[in-house]
Amino acid sequence: MSSTRTDGGCLCGAVRFRADGPPSHVNFCHCRMCQKASGAPMMAWATYERAKVAFLGTSPKMRRSSAVAERGFCGECGSTLVWRRPEAKTIDLAVATFDDPNALAPSEHIWTESRARWLTLTDHLPRYRRRHGSDEDKEAS
Ligand SMILES: [Zn+2]
Ligand SMILES: [Zn+2]
Repeated sequence: MSSTRTDGGCLCGAVRFRADGPPSHVNFCHCRMCQKASGAPMMAWATYERAKVAFLGTSPKMRRSSAVAERGFCGECGSTLVWRRPEAKTIDLAVATFDDPNALAPSEHIWTESRARWLTLTDHLPRYRRRHGSDEDKEAS
């Protein structure tokens, strides 16, 4: 299945990763923690089974970032790379750090309640004020 492998890594190249097969999910996250951690108005994340992701070279530095999650970044250059719940079987990789980010198109926006108001969204993807999949959080389209 080498044809479905996707590789990526941080800005300086110290951390490299390889994800096997397609992600189960790709989204844009507008939450304040992603904004702070990345320095960007939103992050794009691809969710994989943890067993399908391998880190080559240096491992990302993990830091607990909230009651439920930790974030991983390159200890050398600081690139934001990983989001995960410590107990979960999945791991999120930052789409923009893949060698070919165009291969992973997000299918929804989450946490739009904290979207930067000067950022105009013109796509027609579903938008959730908070979590994915919650009807009460879904914005009218
Ligand atoms: Zn780096
Ligand atoms: Zn987020």
